[in-house]
Amino acid sequence: MADSECLRCGSCCHSREGTILVEEADIRHWRMNGRADLADRLVEGHFGQRAFPNGPRGACIHLGRPGVPNECSIYEDRATVCRTFLPGSGQCLEARRDGRLG
Ligand code: SF4
Ligand code: SF4
Repeated sequence: MADSECLRCGSCCHSREGTILVEEADIRHWRMNGRADLADRLVEGHFGQRAFPNGPRGACIHLGRPGVPNECSIYEDRATVCRTFLPGSGQCLEARRDGRLG
């Protein structure tokens, strides 16, 4: 979430655990590129897929850096679903509405 508006928001990273789904291709990519820790830190998600776990804030465990609570801490390695989630899209507006964070 490098977009400045996203840094003030973070709504799309606040979701019930098991709903931010990770693709098999992400898992393979992480394992082949030195980030097996990300592949090993997933939970059961909807539709039989794997998903990011939530942290104590009720958001994706990877949300937040010291002093920047809405920045993705694994931005360069984030999942496909995160890369394709476009600011300003219908999904974005829905997340902001439902999350009441943005
Ligand atoms: S909901 Fe939209 S504005 Fe908020 S962080 Fe996600 S993409 Fe950015
Ligand atoms: S990996 Fe990053 S961008 Fe994706 S849901 Fe988690 S905090 Fe948000």
